Amino acid sequence: MEMKCEIIENDSRLIGVVSVKVPGIYGRRGNPLPRRMAKLVRPAAVALQKVYRNIVREGGHLFLSDMFRSADQQQRAHEDWIKGRKSAFSPPCCSSVHEAARAIDIDAFDTGIGHRRVRQLLNQHGWTHVVATLTGAECWHYEFRQSKWENYRKQHGYPAMAHAMKEAIGNTAGNEIGRKIREQVTWVQKSLNRLIAARLRVNGNYDAHTRAAVIAFQNKYRLQIDGVAGPITRKKIRELLDSKG
Ligand SMILES: [Zn+2]
Repeated sequence: MEMKCEIIENDSRLIGVVSVKVPGIYGRRGNPLPRRMAKLVRPAAVALQKVYRNIVREGGHLFLSDMFRSADQQQRAHEDWIKGRKSAFSPPCCSSVHEAARAIDIDAFDTGIGHRRVRQLLNQHGWTHVVATLTGAECWHYEFRQSKWENYRKQHGYPAMAHAMKEAIGNTAGNEIGRKIREQVTWVQKSLNRLIAARLRVNGNYDAHTRAAVIAFQNKYRLQIDGVAGPITRKKIRELLDSKG
């Protein structure tokens, strides 16, 4: 397949989103990224076209492993991370820029011209990286924020930005479950701060600090240690809070 990003058509359901054809990593290398994933907001797609042209001009190539994700897929990825089936952090549904059709994951290790150069080209066209390193976890993740969303992030924080971006394309899938999860995580964070002085930031975001605190709690109360604030762990928390009054 050709080494380029081709805009196919407007998405029929998501506002301002287009279907694209880009080289993916699934099946035979260079096969188009599966259609359900291959969606971007139009300015992001246009910027990616320019990146491809530059990369090809320099003799490189770029294969993508991910782009648009549904709320369900995002939630499953999050649960895989919580359960330790996946080492790189995935946020819960409604807090990933992938759900907003503004993120890509690239194969950073096979570009022909080096990840450093590919990153420069992505950055030049408005694609931001989220981690500074060129090799560690999530070094492959890039997102298209433009100044509007960059300012939003500075004011309201990353999860709120991701959620607002998702709403902006009319993607409300998973909102209800996302809201419930954030409420529950907020409660877990507050409770662990109270019960084991976990000193967590209470933000409803099940991040690595929260998981570590859950593990410490499970260890202290001799529960099964899995880092998941599941029904048994939450029951124990509730009992302890009740007994504290
Ligand atoms: Zn990503």
